[in-house]
Amino acid sequence: AREWRLRTRPTGWPTPDDFELAESEVPELADGQVRVRNVVLSVDPYMRGRMSAAKSYAAPYELGEAMTGGAVGVVEESRADGFSVGDHVLHGLGWREVAVLDASEARVLDASAAPASAYLGVLGMTGLTAYAGLTRTASLKEGDVVFVSGAAGAVGGAVGQVARALGASRVIGSAGSPEKVRHLTEDLGFDAAFSYRDGRVSDHLRELAPDGIDVYFDNVGGEHLEAAIGSLRLGGRIAVCGMISVYNDTEPAPGPRNLARLIQTRGRIEGFLVGDHYDLAGEYFRRAAGWLADGTLSLRETSVDGFENAVDAFLGVLRGENTGKMVVRL
Ligand code: NDP
Repeated sequence: AREWRLRTRPTGWPTPDDFELAESEVPELADGQVRVRNVVLSVDPYMRGRMSAAKSYAAPYELGEAMTGGAVGVVEESRADGFSVGDHVLHGLGWREVAVLDASEARVLDASAAPASAYLGVLGMTGLTAYAGLTRTASLKEGDVVFVSGAAGAVGGAVGQVARALGASRVIGSAGSPEKVRHLTEDLGFDAAFSYRDGRVSDHLRELAPDGIDVYFDNVGGEHLEAAIGSLRLGGRIAVCGMISVYNDTEPAPGPRNLARLIQTRGRIEGFLVGDHYDLAGEYFRRAAGWLADGTLSLRETSVDGFENAVDAFLGVLRGENTGKMVVRL
């Protein structure tokens, strides 16, 4: 079966040459293991960090070895209790066509409740990221004015919709194109949205939130973060989820120049990792299933067909080619 390996560690923007499509033997199953044929793979911005050797929260990919990532597949053979041939499972051995893994590392999914890809997005890691960041890190309260960057992406779209469901009075999003801006206000129910490629973020924010914002959910960093600090209201909270604008930088980017505003606003900036909040998963997935059923949450995604196109899909996420969660269908 085929797998994608990391061939070289990029400096700056990754290119297709950093990856290699290789053939590998599928091992025999040991007791307690399952063999899974992947049907949908996740490609995510955090994988850019794993291409570097620098120590971070997720281990670096090893050169010359298959990469890993979220995936949903169908069990082809099972030597584990509770796993039958034909079951859909969620697991972490993406970037390959066939995965052999310990059953303890896979979770059986209800494939009749939602499409398989939903478990990589709104009913999975990215949805939980939105929920944990809003409810815990940003301490979202009813009536808050919320601003989210990367709003047309997997996490950002969920942030806007979940914030509304939890009582935010106004939700503002930024994204990288007029089509995405329209998608936010017309399909996802954002109150206002703008393209960060058109003018200055701070000018847009001042216009769309003249009285300021209570919560900023940061997916982007850089100019967005500085603008959000500039618009922060008394007691405002900034949840730092990601900073995709700097992931391909070769030099550290300058920080926000207006941090002193945190003093007068008693503002708070706090980073978080979804991995620390899996105790919320049951609560979130229950609520999200209800929100999906009643239309509060929508399941927008962008999919790329073909295992051989997984790298293009991943590079596409970094370039903004996705609306909603980007997935690869095999
Ligand atoms: P997205 O679906 O949001 O895809 C990434 C998007 O980022 C692109 O579509 C693109 O949209 C936007 N983007 C790319 N470059 C820039 C830039 N220079 N400035 C502004 N926007 C840019 O990915 P996810 O929803 O999976 O992830 C969103 C963020 O959340 C990332 O920063 C990621 O690292 C982080 N994350 C953090 C987690 C945690 O535990 N803390 C967990 C999961 C994700 P556009 O066209 O709008 O530019």
